[in-house]
Amino acid sequence: MAWFKRESSDIQATEQKRVRTEGLWVKCEGCRQIIWKKELEDNLNVCTKCDYHFRISSAERLMLLLDEDSIEIQDENLESTDPLNFTDTRPYKARLEKSKSSTGLKDAIRNASGTIHGRPVIVSSMEYSFIGGSMGAVVGEAITRAIERACKDRKPIIVVSASGGARMMEGVVSLMQMAKISAALARLDTARIPYISVLTDPTTGGVTASYAMLGDLNIAEPGALIGFAGPRVIEQTIRQKLPEGFQTSEFLLRHGMLDAVVHRKDMKSYIARALDFMAPKAA
Ligand SMILES: [Zn+2]
Repeated sequence: MAWFKRESSDIQATEQKRVRTEGLWVKCEGCRQIIWKKELEDNLNVCTKCDYHFRISSAERLMLLLDEDSIEIQDENLESTDPLNFTDTRPYKARLEKSKSSTGLKDAIRNASGTIHGRPVIVSSMEYSFIGGSMGAVVGEAITRAIERACKDRKPIIVVSASGGARMMEGVVSLMQMAKISAALARLDTARIPYISVLTDPTTGGVTASYAMLGDLNIAEPGALIGFAGPRVIEQTIRQKLPEGFQTSEFLLRHGMLDAVVHRKDMKSYIARALDFMAPKAA
């Protein structure tokens, strides 16, 4: 009865058949045009044709914001312990290992101190490519430490968000981070030290519901998806059609949820000017 049985070795993996030029060109999500990757990188990963802001890594973000040679990485040895021993389609431990090897990070965050136009600052930058930039105990602890360091050293802090929200694989432990970070920010506020929140594509869920919206200044990159719940969930709940462009930076700016939408090329100088205004250097 096995006359139709296919030998398993007949099917070849298609991996090797990929075209050699792959990686040289990228398709823009904004205008659907094909752009030369080198040209895109030279333009801070912003489309030269339509200004679409591509996602960038936490390392690129730090280099973009901080003065060259001033960057000092901190808190890089924090690791998740998988407190719930969680498994969905794959064990959480396996997901962690995969993200660790692909990003070279231990979790979805990179803390650094450095200077912006000579002014000392603390920066916490989220890494979207590490399990969707989700916030678990490590991200929460790293951001809290960065805030506490900002408090102790009396340096302004900038948190760059890029996150799908709380990390469900850590359950309530990840939700707890919202309160923990918010409490640390309250102490920073009492100490009268500026906090600038930079929202990039995407900033959603528990991250939006806590520190991303708690900045003395909340600024976003153009076209970023920013929201709490997804549009489908909201439409089902309020039983209304949502307006066009809902949950983008520009929409939120028009409705008073953000202070500014700033192009990537202007971000550093914008922050520097804001800090000069918020915390003038001692004469
Ligand atoms: Zn484009």
